[in-house]
Amino acid sequence: MFERGHFIDGREMPGASTRNADVMDPSSGSVLGRVALASKDEVEKAVTSASKAFPDWSATNPQRRARVLFRFKELVENDIETLARLISAEHGKVLADARGDVQRGLEVIEFACGIPHLQKGEYTEGAGPGIDVYSIRQPLGVGVGITPFNFPAMIPMWMFGVAIACGNTFICKPSERDPSAPMRLAELMMEAGAPEGVLNVVNGDKEAVNLLISDPRVSAVSFVGSSAIAQAIYEACAHNGKRVQAFGGAKNHLIVLPDADLDNAVNQLIGGAFGSAGERCMATPVAVPVGEDTADKLVQMLKPRVESLKIGHPFDKESDVGPLVTRAHVERVRNYIEMGVKEGAELVVDGRNIALQGLEEGYYLGGSLFDQVTPTMKSYQDEIFGPVLQIVRAPDFETALRLPSEHQYGNGVAIFTRNGSAAREFAARVNVGMVGVNVPIPVPLSYYSFGGWKRSGFGDTNQHGPDGVRFWTKLKTVTQRWPEDVSQASYSIPVME
Ligand code: NAD
Repeated sequence: MFERGHFIDGREMPGASTRNADVMDPSSGSVLGRVALASKDEVEKAVTSASKAFPDWSATNPQRRARVLFRFKELVENDIETLARLISAEHGKVLADARGDVQRGLEVIEFACGIPHLQKGEYTEGAGPGIDVYSIRQPLGVGVGITPFNFPAMIPMWMFGVAIACGNTFICKPSERDPSAPMRLAELMMEAGAPEGVLNVVNGDKEAVNLLISDPRVSAVSFVGSSAIAQAIYEACAHNGKRVQAFGGAKNHLIVLPDADLDNAVNQLIGGAFGSAGERCMATPVAVPVGEDTADKLVQMLKPRVESLKIGHPFDKESDVGPLVTRAHVERVRNYIEMGVKEGAELVVDGRNIALQGLEEGYYLGGSLFDQVTPTMKSYQDEIFGPVLQIVRAPDFETALRLPSEHQYGNGVAIFTRNGSAAREFAARVNVGMVGVNVPIPVPLSYYSFGGWKRSGFGDTNQHGPDGVRFWTKLKTVTQRWPEDVSQASYSIPVME
């Protein structure tokens, strides 16, 4: 049994409040350890530490900040197995997927290593007589990141990698379900040479979040989690005068046109819908085959694949899919399956009655496949976030385009086709933030920016890439003149002749 406290001022410290939460092993349903839930005192310590570290860190030249990130990248690479095991143990995703969680975070660290170039401003010499104008991007101060359970390494690195590179100091408030990976990342950041207070981790729940987002010393908040909370965080931070970006839930559609390579589409769909037990914001839980013939073939091909998914312990190399994160979440997903049946969808594969020998208390569900799902069903409108694939049959291209475009979420969408002009038109017209063409999970690479539309993203700037640098810096523009003669007062607005 471990005890996780907080990481403040360069070291792990035990929780001082009496509030704790159990960290569960989803593979067995047993308690792995306990995590402290911060109260006022600990949040105060973290914000003070980050505030104190800011003046020196923001004045550290960008190449030195980049060197710390370079060292951090190497340390994380050397530690990837330990990190992956921590993630698998607390989250339940299989080890290969947990390594990917670390790797996709590291890619943003690699991007952030380019900060001396990325943070450069612009300069106009001779904008007027003896006048030059230049712009600079300055760090904001103390940044806060509030992260979800499903990517305990990647999403913290997306946030703090860019924030710290830009000269901010940072406080991460990870999910209380899997706090160990972010704590290890903070340790490695100190080993890499970041000064104390540059990266802190405060564990906790709603109480810690509310304290962090109302502290006047916090300048900016980046949130990733479910939409209702994303919206509440967005509104509260805006009210408190903070810069904020808040990313929410998703229901990503994968469109299959009649000319698609169906073998490829099925392979990608199976991975996209059931990988990580469907607990990915870029999962593909809805398939939209166009035309009855495509739909019939797709269902026929998917059924045996869903039935033969290898569900098992996350450390077992043979497992395709591990357990879900909590018992409560398993119940929630079961309720949605029940709802789908009651709403009249056809349950082609029922994953509810899975029995794994020796793992009876684990939070497992098999894959479920629904056909004949319609847009009026609540089980279609809501995010399920589990191993459930719903098929909505579309008669034509326009209907297939309308379904994701009109859905409340607009995170990702994919289209599978051999027709370049259809794909191009789809990408141009669809009302969704991230699009894949013959790519099932179109998470943009680190040097592009990540973010969904509608109820999947609140705010104006996206994560990492160029938007990440914009979010974590403020723009200052300087107009300068060094006159040789003393000038006369002028009472009209200056204009460049
Ligand atoms: P969640 O909203 O329950 O929790 C996210 C974070 O908010 C956690 O740190 C949690 O402690 C905190 N939190 C929970 N309740 C709170 C409250 N009432 N007030 C303030 N803070 C609160 O989300 P989760 O279950 O950890 O993660 C799954 C969700 O995240 C899914 O909806 C998924 O789609 C979404 N997600 C979105 C993206 C994206 O980029 N759009 C990425 C990953 C996950």
